[in-house]
Amino acid sequence: AEPLLQIRDLSVAFRTERGLVQAVEGVSLEVEAGRVLGLVGESGSGKTQTLLSILGLILDPNAVLSGSVRLDGEELVGMPNRRLRRIRGAKAAMIFQDPMTALTPVHTVGWQIVEQIRAHSSLSNRAARDKAVALLAECGIPDPARVVERYPHELSGGMRQRVVIAMAVSCEPKLIVADEPTTALDVTVQAQILALLDRLRRDHGTGIVFVTHDLGVVSEIADTVAVMYAGRIVESGPVQALFAAPRHPYTHGLFNSIPPLRGPRPARLTGIPGLPPSRGAPETGCAFAPRCAYAFAPCAARPPLAPEGAQRVACFLPGETKQGFRRAGDLAA
Ligand code: SF4
Repeated sequence: AEPLLQIRDLSVAFRTERGLVQAVEGVSLEVEAGRVLGLVGESGSGKTQTLLSILGLILDPNAVLSGSVRLDGEELVGMPNRRLRRIRGAKAAMIFQDPMTALTPVHTVGWQIVEQIRAHSSLSNRAARDKAVALLAECGIPDPARVVERYPHELSGGMRQRVVIAMAVSCEPKLIVADEPTTALDVTVQAQILALLDRLRRDHGTGIVFVTHDLGVVSEIADTVAVMYAGRIVESGPVQALFAAPRHPYTHGLFNSIPPLRGPRPARLTGIPGLPPSRGAPETGCAFAPRCAYAFAPCAARPPLAPEGAQRVACFLPGETKQGFRRAGDLAA
């Protein structure tokens, strides 16, 4: 059967004064129902554009999409906006880093959840309100009957994110796309939100695409991982395999950028010298070459994403070398 979400050869470009600027190129991804895909990359890697195109949110008239994004058997690329909006409410929901993106300060959280429920169902006001209270309880909010009367600013950041998740699941979406939903929260609350999402996918079979730059979060929640660099996937595979043996020099560098000592949320992607290429830079060859300690002559061509072990890897280094740099430790020192 077709997976819940199937992205094939997705490319996203933007028309600019300098010509067409490629943000995402040739990305293919799949998410099964009840599974979590972690999409990892630095800012500017194209992960957010990929995510937005999943929901048809690239409403920028200068955006040019090609390829295929199929959600629950329906093709989203090229779908009219009116139908996309329906799908966004009913089949897919989005959670952002800042809960206030989804909440308005001028209404109680109860009002906002009830509106969301009634927009997508024929429930009475009363029934929608009961459902809102039940959803807040399910999302781990204590005393939900009182919280529905509160305004967003009266709640903590963690509670607001729970409210947003309650709104997202109110329409029983098949897919949740989450963009750094725990980044702004402290470690304890972050763990609670991850546990909540994990429970939702188990109880409801919801598929989740989780965008983050935080490998620690990926290891906790994802089943599969795709690492993006400069608009392309450079490595993907099952989370255990990729964490045990990262094969792309970039992925390897990401792991090395995690300080070895346990501490508060270390996994910012700051450990690799150099910057990701600015978008629109004329691109020939491997985009990581300027930062890669292993670059050699063949890297002047573009490496294809090819199967290697349990992963798919876009790099010309032979397999043995990749095993070697993994053991040798420091790649980019
Ligand atoms: Fe480095 Fe070459 Fe592999 Fe690119 S293809 S990551 S430049 S070794």
